[in-house]
Amino acid sequence: MKKPFVDAQTLHKIAAQYGTPFHLYDEKGIRANARRLHQAFAWNPGFKEYFAVKATPNPAILQILREEGCGVDCATYTELLLAEKLGYQGREIMFSSNMTPLQDFEQAHRMRAIINLDDLTDVEYIEKLPSIPEIVCLRYNPGGNFSISNEIMDTPGEAKYGMTRPQLNLAIERLLELGVREFGLHAFLASNTTTNEYYPTLAKILFELVRDLQAETGAHFTLVNLSGGIGVPYHPSEEPADIMAIGAGVERAFNEVLAPAGLGHLAVVAELGRFMLAPYGHLIAKAIRRKEIYKDYIGLDACAADLMRPAMYGAYHHISIAGKEDFPHDHIYDVVGGLCENNDKFAVNRRLPRIELGDLVVIHDTGAHGFSMGYNYNGKLRSAEVLLKSDGSTELIRRAETPEDYFATLMLPTPSLRL
Ligand SMILES: *Cc1c(COP(=O)(O)O)cnc(C)c1O
Repeated sequence: MKKPFVDAQTLHKIAAQYGTPFHLYDEKGIRANARRLHQAFAWNPGFKEYFAVKATPNPAILQILREEGCGVDCATYTELLLAEKLGYQGREIMFSSNMTPLQDFEQAHRMRAIINLDDLTDVEYIEKLPSIPEIVCLRYNPGGNFSISNEIMDTPGEAKYGMTRPQLNLAIERLLELGVREFGLHAFLASNTTTNEYYPTLAKILFELVRDLQAETGAHFTLVNLSGGIGVPYHPSEEPADIMAIGAGVERAFNEVLAPAGLGHLAVVAELGRFMLAPYGHLIAKAIRRKEIYKDYIGLDACAADLMRPAMYGAYHHISIAGKEDFPHDHIYDVVGGLCENNDKFAVNRRLPRIELGDLVVIHDTGAHGFSMGYNYNGKLRSAEVLLKSDGSTELIRRAETPEDYFATLMLPTPSLRL
């Protein structure tokens, strides 16, 4: 059974201090998980996890991960600025973007980030930089379907990312002419998958491709980027990915393909987001309204503006009612927010204990792609973020938005309209 990482009594104290709703993060869980990941890939001396900043762009979270040895994976100018303010530089930063404006490449280059090219036409942007980067990574898209043991995992042929196989050769040839000395290869072929086979399958594809590309072009490859995609069990019936088995599977592919090709020096790197953070975040909300019509509704003080995944993908997020984890689950509710959008539902037909107004509702696995997808529809203000530290104390790591924040970008015509 899925249980919150914090007990009900503590949670009520935290809620009384900060007010609901808020996202709560579990430092202890984040650190332990990051350590397991590094242990799983300890066989590769160059291994580095570049945390996908978009998943949880909060400096306190990035700092914890940095202390655990992680760099950052940025995709935009603003994410790069955030990394720059936090002092990241050089090969601590992966820049994996798409449809990229020149300004973004220029910023990545100023920071000496590893630039990961999404397209053949990106090579022209490299030519426009004030100097040629030492290392360039290339993103591959094999097209078609991506299958593991006959099961279709995803459809790269429908994805806007990456280059075709012939385009990789063209990009490398041109980049060699420009003086690029080191190359990396990247692909992201399936999202949120808990199968232990994903990374090893992807690794084998990329390792073989590196071997072939190096033989065809003479380019010197130094890294393979397995990107993100390792999932988490959002539903209690799902099994978590076994990161030790995943690391061992990648090692097997490495020994099978790269070591015999004289490529045993290659660094294997990752850009995980969800796997690093999702289980270690909860959205904490309060039940504020009850409504009984054709169905029974519980209204929360949080809404899809705080967590978009259910509305956007119909994603399942487990819900606990603080202190009632062991109560009989004998009521069926739709648990909803207050947006004027009927998809603003955290749960539909969910079997839960009877909920009283004032109960704290814990929405699980919101640590990645939760707060960061938030938006301001209906004038809803984004919530606070709170860190539950390893020593049991808490810290406000982002305040909740106020109406002033909502008004800040408006060009209000007269002073009387200002707040
Ligand atoms: C979103 C993204 C990631 C992280 O994906 P997760 O599913 O959170 O692991 C990594 N790399 C790139 C390029 C991405 O777009």
